[in-house]
Amino acid sequence: MFDLIVKGGNLPNGQVADIGIRDGLIAAIEPLDGAEAAETVEAQGDLVSPPFVDPHFHMDATLSYGLPRINESGTLLEGIGLWGELKEIVTQDDMVTRALEYCDWAASMGLLSIRSHVDTCDDRLLGVEAMLDVRAKVKDYIDLQLVAFPQDGFYRDPTARENTIRALDMGVDVVGGIPHFERTMADGAASVKELCEIAAERGLQVDMHCDETDDPMSRHIETLAYETTRLGLQGRVAGSHLTSMHSMDNYYVSKLLPMVAEAEISAIPNPLINIVIQGRHDSFPKRRGLTRVKEMLAMGINVGWGQDCVLDPWYSLGTADMLDVAFMGLHVAQMTSPDEMRTCFDMVTANNAKTLGLQDYGLRVGAQASLVVLDASNPIEALRLRAARLCVVSKGRVISRTPRADASLSIAGRPGRVRRRHQVKP
Ligand SMILES: [Zn+2]
Repeated sequence: MFDLIVKGGNLPNGQVADIGIRDGLIAAIEPLDGAEAAETVEAQGDLVSPPFVDPHFHMDATLSYGLPRINESGTLLEGIGLWGELKEIVTQDDMVTRALEYCDWAASMGLLSIRSHVDTCDDRLLGVEAMLDVRAKVKDYIDLQLVAFPQDGFYRDPTARENTIRALDMGVDVVGGIPHFERTMADGAASVKELCEIAAERGLQVDMHCDETDDPMSRHIETLAYETTRLGLQGRVAGSHLTSMHSMDNYYVSKLLPMVAEAEISAIPNPLINIVIQGRHDSFPKRRGLTRVKEMLAMGINVGWGQDCVLDPWYSLGTADMLDVAFMGLHVAQMTSPDEMRTCFDMVTANNAKTLGLQDYGLRVGAQASLVVLDASNPIEALRLRAARLCVVSKGRVISRTPRADASLSIAGRPGRVRRRHQVKP
């Protein structure tokens, strides 16, 4: 007797399988004809995927678009200034309310693990308290991992160092940083060193906003790789954005990438945000600002797409749809071969689970029973359609259902119903 059976879905690897769920775990992946279950989800012809994972988000700022005003220039720096204005007027309750609303969106989109940075440059640490509260409130359906993020600079802001350490003492999970925003390159490098040492002492992971700039001389990823290896933090460190790498000298990158691979650093490009924020100081040609995704993947570096922002001081759109994120990444990085497109799907699922260190993730017996049934037959079609999440299962329970995106057509001589599915011939 199972609690739930998901019947006949296409797994991302092409296998067709029944999935039996018991006590919040995947108990069987095998033909389950005749098996009893309290509830059955029919998934014949549909893709059944492990849930989406967002490795880079700002939950404390989400859904605040327009408060107290709109970012006119579209630049990172105006966004940071605007967030500073908002922090003056926001309340803890506002932040919790907005974050919970966002988590409803995420749950409906099958986005069930989120790593969110939380600003620690506030002596009251309202955002930290709010996000710890949200982490506890959503834990039965979304795993929220929090990063202590000194938005205004670990050294540049006079109390950020102390407040970041306080946030970690309060239970924030991961050590963050923003070396390119410190006053000097030397301060940036020093901040990377000290923050990695803090993580090593506490046994924590590291995830820094690193080189989110078009300045090719912003090379803090080099220091991050060096400190990771020096402190034995391999496999526990992520570099977010890494946009300066877009503009770096090719010879230097040929030295840098093997160091990143050796340090087992995961890379988190955020294509929606990078494509709108980078290159704003350029005339023509305008740089895209996305880091070197294909080149890192070719080196064996774990790379996964992050979302970063939804309706906040830096980005005026977004729906918690990681397929949107991967779709943009696929275009900007020109990952258009079938293998590359499948990789783009992995980059919002398995690769990000690896970055977050999720041990119970995946469609295998014994893993946590969290999955998404998509209105598409395979991962590439899911990307093309930004497919509807027909059913979302979190920790063994169905938490969301969405109808198929069928249109009814009224054209003489044509079918009455259109789904826009298409079988690609091999
Ligand atoms: Zn960010």
